[in-house]
Amino acid sequence: MAELQSSANALCFAFRGGEMLVRVDADAVRVPRGREVATLLDAGTPIPAGDVGGAECVALAVEGEAHAPEGMEFRGLRGLHAVLGADEFRMAGRASQILEWDRAHRFCGRCGSPTQPGPEPLARACTGCDAVHYPRLSPAVLISIIHQNRILLARGPQFTPGMYSVLAGFVEPGESLEETCIREAREEVGVEIAEVRYVASQPWPFPSQVMIAFTSTYAGGEIVPQPGEIEEARWFTVDEIPMVPAPLSLSRTLIDRFVREQGGDPAALRDPRSPPA
Ligand SMILES: [Zn+2]
Repeated sequence: MAELQSSANALCFAFRGGEMLVRVDADAVRVPRGREVATLLDAGTPIPAGDVGGAECVALAVEGEAHAPEGMEFRGLRGLHAVLGADEFRMAGRASQILEWDRAHRFCGRCGSPTQPGPEPLARACTGCDAVHYPRLSPAVLISIIHQNRILLARGPQFTPGMYSVLAGFVEPGESLEETCIREAREEVGVEIAEVRYVASQPWPFPSQVMIAFTSTYAGGEIVPQPGEIEEARWFTVDEIPMVPAPLSLSRTLIDRFVREQGGDPAALRDPRSPPA
């Protein structure tokens, strides 16, 4: 009974695939409380996900066929970045990763037996071999490479046309984050870097990453784009910066930092959401 009561008041981060249920009022988009989505809660298995500003939160997977209750809609997580508060968006990302992990670990990766929740929150234990499985994150680095008054930006074949960004890459087994930066710069654009320095990190729930941003300085080599990975890579002065990722992304944080250091105004940069010039 106590559990029911707490679910009724909890903020409910309900996902249908990659889309999250939100209540859309005239003036705001917000995360529904459990009691507003009681039918969905009854049909599923809510997972405790922590709290936001003292309010308990649950993550809930809903069936692909489920309809949104009246006054609510399912929306893509990326699009909610700009409309939810920072803490709620962070919890939405956490909830989506917990659900993805829960869904993908119904069976033990070691022996193939079914798993069950426990022995602690955010764990699933194997019923066959007792292995305990926890959510995994994939760390990835972002690297800005600066050479005097220029920054190296590159574009991948999957980018929005005209958009460039800093280099990015996944950490491989056995590497420090700084070593990943050095390897990625060498592989993706053929240049050597030095003075690799930590700037910031950010959870990135698409689907289960944590991004770690570094700055570095150019230390040698000619730009040679890696076939298949990098379509074009170039040096840009602050006045030449092309379309770049939207604010709030950590890539953009690195680019804005360079622009500020060069006396420019990051607010003047164009991103894929800017109106056409
Ligand atoms: Zn097992």
